[in-house]
Amino acid sequence: MHRNADGSARGYAALNRPEDWIRSIDFGNAPAGLAQLAGQFEGWAGHLTVFITASQVEPVLRPIYALPTGYWWRRTPGLTLIGDAAHLMSPFAGEGANLALYDGAELAKAIIRYPGDIEAALAAFERDLFPRSTEVAEASAQNLARFFGPDAPWSVVELFESIRDIEL
Ligand SMILES: Cc1cc2nc3c(=O)[nH]c(=O)nc-3n(C[C@H](O)[C@H](O)[C@H](O)COP(=O)(O)OP(=O)(O)OC[C@H]3O[C@@H](n4cnc5c(N)ncnc54)[C@H](O)[C@@H]3O)c2cc1C
Repeated sequence: MHRNADGSARGYAALNRPEDWIRSIDFGNAPAGLAQLAGQFEGWAGHLTVFITASQVEPVLRPIYALPTGYWWRRTPGLTLIGDAAHLMSPFAGEGANLALYDGAELAKAIIRYPGDIEAALAAFERDLFPRSTEVAEASAQNLARFFGPDAPWSVVELFESIRDIEL
């Protein structure tokens, strides 16, 4: 949840459910639809689930897609991909935008390194792109399992505690 400048609150609720299931909820009947959604968080503190049941707007449904970890392609002359197009992953490593920016910078550097030889530049760029994105995609997939696995939310608590320990 975060609070906006006008005092309203906006937040995300994430669920591991088939896309058809979530789309089958009728948010046209807002109280019933929101109650059905909040029912998925049975046992959670009421002061958290009220953010769902008291929502004044229809939820925006955003399915999460990911390419298979380690996805790669054969060199295609004159073409390459960067960012999510190259390595779409779930947002649970918080690295997709960082990687997209890094890809762009690395591609520019490769083009400068091989003046007049775009194929050499793209081949060099992709040599580093695949291992780099695979490593982050693996971390993202592991975190996805932490967030939605049978040990959640304690697996997430452990994750944040391990980060806190590193920073200390
Ligand atoms: C809930 C969530 C939380 C996230 N949190 C983080 C985070 O904390 N840190 C982080 O680093 N990353 C995070 N990400 C990931 C990050 O948002 C993406 O990895 C990043 O936006 C990818 O950038 P991109 O430019 O490759 O693709 P996009 O941002 O998807 O940009 C592609 C653009 O191309 C446009 N487009 C598509 N088709 C066409 C077409 N045919 N013609 C013209 N334009 C077209 C699209 O409209 C879009 O504007 C998060 C993602 C989600 C969903």
